[in-house]
Amino acid sequence: NVILSVKNLSANINGTPILKGVNLEIKAGEIHAIMGRNGSGKSTFSKVIAGHPDYEVTGGEIIYKGQNILEKEPNERALEGIFLAFQYPLEIPGVSNLDFLRVAYNIRRKHLGLEEIDTFDFEDLVEQKLDIVKMNPAFLDRSLNEGFSGGEKKRNEILQMALLEPTLAILDEIDSGLDIDALRIVADGVNQLAHANNAFLLITHYQRLLTYIEPHHIHVMYDGKIVISGGKELALELEETGYDFIEEKLLKGI
Ligand code: ADP
Ligand code: MG
Ligand code: MG
Repeated sequence: NVILSVKNLSANINGTPILKGVNLEIKAGEIHAIMGRNGSGKSTFSKVIAGHPDYEVTGGEIIYKGQNILEKEPNERALEGIFLAFQYPLEIPGVSNLDFLRVAYNIRRKHLGLEEIDTFDFEDLVEQKLDIVKMNPAFLDRSLNEGFSGGEKKRNEILQMALLEPTLAILDEIDSGLDIDALRIVADGVNQLAHANNAFLLITHYQRLLTYIEPHHIHVMYDGKIVISGGKELALELEETGYDFIEEKLLKGI
């Protein structure tokens, strides 16, 4: 029941190596967190898993549900259940949030061999999901993310996730810029959506998120590699000592 297995993954952007041999295995039912300094390669890693075209994979493999997905297009990866929530969600003026969600939901249904959902059934479904993120239904009629506050955008990402039910959800700095209430709502949403057959990869710079979502495994990325892995105590250790302690450990070769 391994969902994601990344082996010795290297990737470049504009010819510059950013990922330098990442290894990571995520099993069904697990929540993992990747922490690390700004610029260590965390967002690059999440975008490479999602298949972002700006990055060139120069070595290694990404095995998702038993298949190497490196040759697959980003939309194909999404249809197969890889979801990437963005640090800066897109704004699409003129497209209502509800329409966007319905189109996304129906594309996924089609991929699963199902018929389009009835419009009224869809509205009922979305209303149930709104509870998860404590979102006001009025948001559904507004243009996608346009004028949404930071917290509302992040909640909207969780709403999309609740509808699409991904197998692997990657949340890149979903906590950045959130006040404590929004952070709790986002974290509660993730906790409600986590189950035995899916997996989460949380990417965060700060320990704060991890007091609300307890990951099973924490990894530290440094200079394009995962250099230390451990349990939730690792986040507390980092909080106390900062990322310098990682550097010291590495220099001493421990
Ligand atoms: P993190 O998410 O850990 O802060 P990133 O993955 O965003 O790190 O960035 C890793 C490194 O890649 C940084 O040194 C950054 O400057 C570089 N980088 C990211 N995107 C680009 C780009 N489009 N062009 C050139 N360098 C980039
Ligand atoms: Mg980043
Ligand atoms: Mg649960």
